[in-house]
Amino acid sequence: MSLANQARNGAAVKPVVCVACSQQCGVIVRVENGRVVEIAGDKEHPVSRGFICVKGTHAAEFHYRPDRIHWPLKRVGARGQDRWQRIEWDQALDEIAGKLRELRDTYGPESIAVSTGTLHGADWGMGERFLNLLGSPNMVGQDKVCTGPIAIGEALTSGWGPSGFTPPIPGVTGCVVLWGFRPSAGKPLAWRQIVAAMRSGTKLIVVDPIRTLEARQADLFVQLRPGSDCALALGWLNVIISEGLYDREFVAGETIGFEALRERAAEYPPARVAELTWVPESLIVESARTFAKSGPAILGPGNGLCQIGATSVQAARALASIVAITGNLNRRGGHMVIGPPRKIVANGDAILMDRLPDSQRDKRLGGDRFTLLNGEGYRQFADALGRAWFGQRHVFSIFTSAHEPLLWDAITEQKPYPVKALITQYHNPFGGSPNAHKVAAALRHPNLELFVAHDLFKSPAAVLADYLLPAAHWLEKPFFSQGFAFLGMIGDFAEANEAAIPAEFGHRADYELWRDLGRRLDQAAEWPERVEQLWDQWLKPAGISFDELASRRGPWRDPNLSFGDGQRPYGTVSGKIELRSELLDRFGVDSLPAYEESQLFRDHAREFPLVLTTGGRVIEGFHQNAQQAAAFRKRFPDPIAQVHPETAAAAGICDGDWIAIETPVGRVAHRAHLTDVVHARVVQADRWWYPEGEAAAPSFYGVLETSINACIDNDPNACDPVMGAWPLRAFPCRIAPLSGPPPQANK
Ligand code: SF4
Repeated sequence: MSLANQARNGAAVKPVVCVACSQQCGVIVRVENGRVVEIAGDKEHPVSRGFICVKGTHAAEFHYRPDRIHWPLKRVGARGQDRWQRIEWDQALDEIAGKLRELRDTYGPESIAVSTGTLHGADWGMGERFLNLLGSPNMVGQDKVCTGPIAIGEALTSGWGPSGFTPPIPGVTGCVVLWGFRPSAGKPLAWRQIVAAMRSGTKLIVVDPIRTLEARQADLFVQLRPGSDCALALGWLNVIISEGLYDREFVAGETIGFEALRERAAEYPPARVAELTWVPESLIVESARTFAKSGPAILGPGNGLCQIGATSVQAARALASIVAITGNLNRRGGHMVIGPPRKIVANGDAILMDRLPDSQRDKRLGGDRFTLLNGEGYRQFADALGRAWFGQRHVFSIFTSAHEPLLWDAITEQKPYPVKALITQYHNPFGGSPNAHKVAAALRHPNLELFVAHDLFKSPAAVLADYLLPAAHWLEKPFFSQGFAFLGMIGDFAEANEAAIPAEFGHRADYELWRDLGRRLDQAAEWPERVEQLWDQWLKPAGISFDELASRRGPWRDPNLSFGDGQRPYGTVSGKIELRSELLDRFGVDSLPAYEESQLFRDHAREFPLVLTTGGRVIEGFHQNAQQAAAFRKRFPDPIAQVHPETAAAAGICDGDWIAIETPVGRVAHRAHLTDVVHARVVQADRWWYPEGEAAAPSFYGVLETSINACIDNDPNACDPVMGAWPLRAFPCRIAPLSGPPPQANK
């Protein structure tokens, strides 16, 4: 039914952008009597053109779940007892602001941390604006395992991060590589474009430990050992350089460090790489040749690469080097270096990164270990980006947040200084963070004097909060994006819409929380009444307003600007593509990609002979929203571990059995699914927690019985030295039939 017809029939219809994931599909929301009754794809949206996935169609069901938190709650009784008293917002805000002021004045602003989880609306980054004005460097995010290592690896190499944003051009792009990337589940609009390109003859190479849907359609499927990506990338570099399959003119004119890279790659001949990665030598050679000879070509890494820990940034650098030396950078049909918005205030400038004094940034948790979390390291990185990108130094500040595993130490051990207050937004660190037992200990520790959770639902972590505040769902919030993609990192695009429905009950948007706390803590000048007024300030230099944007369908692009207007495109220290990183060299980190097997495997290979890999998306779910979505739970009622039939038979496990997965860190229960999509030496486990179990301590919904993150370590020594990415995808493990009863909610 057309919009006009629906309106005539009495329903209000609103074209808005879906925020159930980060793809920014246009959808039509039909509202009857103030209630959302249907969400459908918007055929007139110029990008998504009617596409909608199950998360979009079921968003209203998610929004109206009976277990939503509707009013502010204050804890009564001990933490974790799940006993609450309903209070008014003003009381909650007065008490929270009063405690924050006391802690700031006693322990310094760095004693206050904010932690955000998954994307949940356009005002997602406002907590960091609040912290910058307060003087705390301790914004904690999931950037370490979500996009960050790719973006940082590419930025250190070519001064920008093009991979996530370059779709293939049918009939032009010769080859697409999906490396640890499952777009059919995570980026369906990109997958649609890839399929269209394949129909026009584009070759597909998939590099993944799992034989995914994409792998089944690939011309070449490279099934590698989980976590060995950097070794494989170095193997590709070895083949490409030794066989002369690189662009000599481009390398000579645009890059530095080629000879050093050649020497490093020479250490990784295909025969050695085959041992490290379990990929046959002939396939290493064939896949490298196919990519190098099929240009223009795209090499698209995904979050699989971001979650391999110590070598994640270097693996991304190796891939960025492959793209560069094969002449696929700034090439139509290959990778385009687009850069940030030029006139619209965006990224770090929008959240006032410059208002955080250097002396406070120098205290960022993890700054003493990780190059780009270090104040001086970050400044040199930011200066290089700013020289290339219109003076915008903070375009990648989102990827240098404080280190979450060290936050738990700062709470429990008060080292290097005490962190006394934590505000989480849409974040359940019990489910999403490594070493869930350590997270639990920190959130229950008396040193944490204030814990506030702002969320849609109670979660295992939120049960421990002192204040539980009701968040607005994205259908209740206006939308604004300073870019083609949600993060606002590219080009001169903007897109906006009014909220589909007004906020109900006591639900409040992120902006309102930070505005009202900010006004109580001396920040009144920086928090206008409505978020749209703030967005108008950001849009003003581009000569457009929020209302004008909201009256359009789809993204707006500044008509007076075109890509690369006279700007030097390499935001690196040298201004060249750095195959050998000058910045890493200055900070004592290996300036070239290298691979080393994790110490955990060297220490525990005998007792834990299998490799555990975790994560991976399905289209029904987006991060921890998945488990609370009915469509997801219907299809996936239990946490699933994929086990090869031969491995299962050797362990006495049948399909559907409950099994124990054990690592040197912990033990959880999953249900076995026998399949040969995994290698016989690999177990693939879901990330999971139970909304159905008992909420109160010690159960916490049963999260510690089932969340695979109870088996994953968060030792900083196992993290990447550049930004602190922790390993989720490669752990030594063993499996056995579960000896006790199954997890509480699944008996
Ligand atoms: S892919 Fe699905 S969830 Fe994501 S924006 Fe599009 S419709 Fe929404």
